Amino acid sequence: MGRVFLALALLILLGGCGAPAPAPAPPPPPEPEEVPAPPPSPEPEPYAITDPTEEREGHVPWTGVVEHLFFHPVIAYPELAFDGDSQESGLDDYMFTAGEYEKILRSVCEKGYILVDINSVWREEEGEDGPRMVRNTLYLPEGKKPLVLSFDDVNYYPYMLENGFTHKLIIGEDLKIASRGLDPAGNEVVSRDLDAVPILDKFVEEHPDFSPFGAKGCLSLTGYEGILGYRTQTTTTGWDDVKEAARQKEREAVRPVIEELKRTGWTFGSHTWGHIRLGDGNMTRIQADTERWLDEVGSLVGETKILFYPHGERPDGNDWTLTGPAFQYLQGQGFRVFCSVGVESFSFIKKDICAVICDRLHPDGTTLRRHRDQYLQFYDAKDIIDLDARPEREVLWPEE
Ligand SMILES: [Zn+2]
Repeated sequence: MGRVFLALALLILLGGCGAPAPAPAPPPPPEPEEVPAPPPSPEPEPYAITDPTEEREGHVPWTGVVEHLFFHPVIAYPELAFDGDSQESGLDDYMFTAGEYEKILRSVCEKGYILVDINSVWREEEGEDGPRMVRNTLYLPEGKKPLVLSFDDVNYYPYMLENGFTHKLIIGEDLKIASRGLDPAGNEVVSRDLDAVPILDKFVEEHPDFSPFGAKGCLSLTGYEGILGYRTQTTTTGWDDVKEAARQKEREAVRPVIEELKRTGWTFGSHTWGHIRLGDGNMTRIQADTERWLDEVGSLVGETKILFYPHGERPDGNDWTLTGPAFQYLQGQGFRVFCSVGVESFSFIKKDICAVICDRLHPDGTTLRRHRDQYLQFYDAKDIIDLDARPEREVLWPEE
């Protein structure tokens, strides 16, 4: 009886969201040989990505809401972010610390959410009036709920580098995605614990139940400061061969990082090249920006159907019911899923054009401090917020 209980407890521990699974036992040391073999070159660990729209035994169809949370880059060193400078309030409003973010992953995992890729949620289908988007049936392990994650501005903007964020994504010596940056003393740090991407990678390694299909998140990229910490952008003034050669080097350097991200469940979307507002309907600007994104970013990350509106602002006067010229143009460039920001994971399949519009919830400092109730299905802000690290500002939690 006791032994059965122990085995059960161990099983729960291994599968659950709380405790990490123990590392596998190291292989026995090899027999000594006369001629030492050269050290094996490391191989990347295999990674399986499967299709949640396929029926599987033990999986049940999900017809409810597919929740969608989006994050900004996380703060690696709060003492640099919250140092009283002019950026402090904005960082407190929009960002999480790495520790808060990790706690949120643990909480959504414990609450039964599992990751699905945004590209799995809808598909394009030929209809009477041409192609239209339709919602897919997701087959999930019984009792689980689907969750899409997206990450805006994964560009490593220069202002972030000075404010306690990591500087770029790299492939570490273990061939896994890691971040590189500088600690407050100025020492170079390569880590998997300081950046939203490797933190999620590591969490899924330790809790494979959180991502049964291998999905991670969708990285929403602008182009004006390059991508993923690599300066792959052009400028319109003062461009010369030396700058172009340096840019091409950055493009080559980021390619293996993109490949490894894709191989391990990450996908990409556009956040426009210049983080531009789409609401004003300035078609000249919107077209030039889109062409530049496709040329400088799309050429690296590949085709994408996902567009994340900068500032959450919808095209053509910010009215979701409209299908105006800017929306039609963007759809014509291949985008099908148009993501804004809201108070719930709203989504609507447009009837007059092949496109889906959706809202994402925004876990960040403002909602931690002011909208605890809206996020209780995912986490309790009281358990997440790091009031020791953050500046002293008001917290508005309703009476319990
Ligand atoms: Zn943004």
